[in-house]
Amino acid sequence: MSDVSADLVIIGCGPAGMSAACEARALGLSVVVLDEQNEAGGQIYRRISTAPAPLKELLGADYAAGQRLATAFGDSGARHVGGAAVWNVSPAGVVDYVAQGRAQKVSGQFVLLASGAMERPFPIKGWTLPGVMGAGAGQIMLKGAGTLPRDPVVLAGCGPLLYLLAWQYLRAGVKIRALVDTTSWAAHLRALRHGAAAIRGWRDLRKGLELLSLIRREGVQVYRGASGLAIEGAERAEGLLFRHRKEMVRVPASLILLHQGVVPNAQLSWSVGAKHEWNAEQLCWQPLTDAAGRLGDLPIYVAGDSRAIVGAKASAIQGRLAALAIAGQLGQGADTEQRARQLQGEMAQATHIRPFLDVLYRPLDEHRIPPADDVLVCRCEEVTAGQIRHYVALGCQGPNQAKAFGRCGMGPCQGRLCGLTVTELIAQARAVEPSQVGYYRIRPPIKPVLLGDFTE
Ligand SMILES: Cc1cc2nc3c(=O)[nH]c(=O)nc-3n(C[C@H](O)[C@H](O)[C@H](O)COP(=O)(O)OP(=O)(O)OC[C@H]3O[C@@H](n4cnc5c(N)ncnc54)[C@H](O)[C@@H]3O)c2cc1C
Repeated sequence: MSDVSADLVIIGCGPAGMSAACEARALGLSVVVLDEQNEAGGQIYRRISTAPAPLKELLGADYAAGQRLATAFGDSGARHVGGAAVWNVSPAGVVDYVAQGRAQKVSGQFVLLASGAMERPFPIKGWTLPGVMGAGAGQIMLKGAGTLPRDPVVLAGCGPLLYLLAWQYLRAGVKIRALVDTTSWAAHLRALRHGAAAIRGWRDLRKGLELLSLIRREGVQVYRGASGLAIEGAERAEGLLFRHRKEMVRVPASLILLHQGVVPNAQLSWSVGAKHEWNAEQLCWQPLTDAAGRLGDLPIYVAGDSRAIVGAKASAIQGRLAALAIAGQLGQGADTEQRARQLQGEMAQATHIRPFLDVLYRPLDEHRIPPADDVLVCRCEEVTAGQIRHYVALGCQGPNQAKAFGRCGMGPCQGRLCGLTVTELIAQARAVEPSQVGYYRIRPPIKPVLLGDFTE
């Protein structure tokens, strides 16, 4: 039995979840929104309603713009449960979560998964050493607590978030010793094919140029077209080693922030048994949905970056479109066709730049599929790339068998940090496509829970 029920239960209180809640409430639905963060905002607008004014100013206009949505969400009448980690969603729409140390349930006639994105793993030599983090983690510390690195940092990899963090750090006075950009010249050329569409998304392009211009003005040492990244250090990170213009370069650093894009956080859609497909452009799995985001004939929809990486604006629009479709299923919200058409037009506008970004920032093969055998792939169970290749030599066909061979993907993160790498490693070793290799069978609990959470 569920403690609470609602027309719509939304998991994730970022742009997709908040917008869906506003739209659904306007159509008269009862809505519960769960998020493991205490406050509404998701990744991009983390702590938007309580961040001090100087921090808001430092994070930039795109961050501050989230206040409008957060306020509309607060006024919408949706019930927001913060600090709620969802560990199970049943195919019938019952959602289990832990909040304030207590296991609870809520059931929805419909459920919307709006669990967003996570950083793509960056499995290179030394990536598990203390002093190495994701750039997204660095940004979470900045948004969440105003925490800044004391010593000079090295940022390495590719993708808009890497440059955004560099821009935010520079504005905060953080010293960046080097920005090591792995975007290849060939990728620049290939991206030109999508240049015309990208120009139609000129606002995003202009934003990118602003970031680059501050980095140039501040005189940050930028190494473009770098490859073969490895972290040096015995007990902790001491420097970043890479190939640049056919020479090996070493930059000393005690804090190295790696980033090579974000991928859908699809653990929940996998866990309900929905079908997924390999997205060869974004190099990740994405749930198979209808146009409104519905998973087959389940009462479960997906919106935002957890469906495919589309960015904050498009995530918000997808949330609204899913809410319209759900209201239609519940017989509420007549005459929504015109609203849906308007949103679809906005969606096209918000995604013009996406193919350009996907091609430009396609991570290098060697930074996704470690060529060296001694690189750790599964951090929880300490399984290396060499061990996975050995399993394949013994007949292992896919990630689920890899679990049986060596507990790969069976630790506390439940495969979130190694899943993509294991899929691609096995596919490469078997010389087949990732779509033929598959993914882990994800089972609840998808987040660690304590036995004590279930006692009175
Ligand atoms: C670390 C990080 C930082 C980013 N920073 C920026 C940025 O500054 N600017 C930008 O343009 N884009 C940024 N992005 C990309 C950005 O996330 C999106 O484009 C946008 O926020 C997507 O909106 P969304 O609503 O789909 O998901 P999100 O905004 O990611 O919201 C998803 C929410 O779901 C919650 N959630 C996930 N799983 C569970 C669970 N099991 N139980 C409970 N709650 C759960 C999360 O806590 C999160 O609040 C960032 C991405 C990441 C991974």
